[in-house]
Amino acid sequence: MFKLAVRGVVPIRQGSFVYSSRFASTLALIETSVDGKLDASGANLLYAAKKLNNPITALFVGPNASAAAQELKNSFKCEDLNKIIVAKDESLKNFLPENVSPLIADLLKGDTYSHFVVTSSSMGKNILPRLAAMIDNQPICDVIEIQSPNKFVRPIYAGNAIATIESSQPKQLISVRASAFDSIEEGKMESVDIEDVPIKANDHLPIKWVSANLTTTGRPDLGSAKTIVSGGRAFKDKESFEKYLKPLADTLNAAIGATRAAVDNGLCDNSLQIGQTGKIVAPNLYFAVGISGAVQHLAGMRDSNTIVAINNDPDAPIFKNATYGLEGDALKIVPELTEKIKAAQK
Ligand SMILES: Cc1cc2nc3c(=O)[nH]c(=O)nc-3n(C[C@H](O)[C@H](O)[C@H](O)COP(=O)(O)OP(=O)(O)OC[C@H]3O[C@@H](n4cnc5c(N)ncnc54)[C@H](O)[C@@H]3O)c2cc1C
Repeated sequence: MFKLAVRGVVPIRQGSFVYSSRFASTLALIETSVDGKLDASGANLLYAAKKLNNPITALFVGPNASAAAQELKNSFKCEDLNKIIVAKDESLKNFLPENVSPLIADLLKGDTYSHFVVTSSSMGKNILPRLAAMIDNQPICDVIEIQSPNKFVRPIYAGNAIATIESSQPKQLISVRASAFDSIEEGKMESVDIEDVPIKANDHLPIKWVSANLTTTGRPDLGSAKTIVSGGRAFKDKESFEKYLKPLADTLNAAIGATRAAVDNGLCDNSLQIGQTGKIVAPNLYFAVGISGAVQHLAGMRDSNTIVAINNDPDAPIFKNATYGLEGDALKIVPELTEKIKAAQK
């Protein structure tokens, strides 16, 4: 792993607006579910936003966003949070970037905000490039460390190198990996006001939301789970993948993850894939069961706090990245480990 230093990026103009800022202040787009529940990543995003040392305004969008804004106010404490603003229009319901990005571009006009932050989630990845193009700004994506208001650290080349970027742009548009930041403290923010933002209706969009088909597992969400049990190609079929991994995951109230080889072999749904082309996770505890440790898989889980690798090949690369390694047959080790954990929990 090495560090690159990249400097650069010029001041930005578009049309008659200058997207600059005289005052340092951060706009943070907080993610919610469509029905107005605060996403766990919001607390991490605000922790990251605090590192910019600016007063923060939290933005919520969607017709049910007021409930999530209230939930933030009642459940967390963030001294730098000045204000919560809510854009409640029905057109923002499914966070279509065609509707959300122009709203944020409008908010970023003028001098009020010097920084915009969002998580590197599907929603953030949908909105940020469009927003950046609209205001002709170079976004800085997947930030894992904020060193100063204009100096950011992010992985490149699938996590094999770490770049430190110093931006000279007048505004910084940043997406952060929520798992790389702690959460703000629990508490209450009684003095923080919640205000509505007026919306310009956009009735002429060439696209419309049709439907969503979400896979629900009844387990913790893979992106925010504290413990993940992941399986690889060592399992021969879907039945054995589930037979061995589910009881261990149930015992630890863990999410289940997988390698791309496991997904490609039909062992599980592709929503479970972790890695370069899957989800990026950083739980407290990560079990890599029958996983070789290819760079593309490591790119998605190497920031986990404690990694336990179970593999019958002593030379498997995963052991070099593991905190604990168990060498042997996963089909024997996993049931034994599950029983021992259950016994210890009694
Ligand atoms: C562009 C690109 C993007 C990719 N993106 C991703 C990605 O996002 N995520 C990802 O995971 N991969 C990704 N890959 C694929 C990646 O290169 C590997 O092929 C994949 O991660 C391997 O998965 P695996 O570890 O399950 O399988 P293998 O590499 O086949 O490893 C299986 C392991 O199980 C062990 N084993 C076998 N039987 C047992 C047993 N009974 N008990 C214990 N251990 C056992 C073996 O020793 C071996 O180490 C990508 C590849 C490319 C080219």
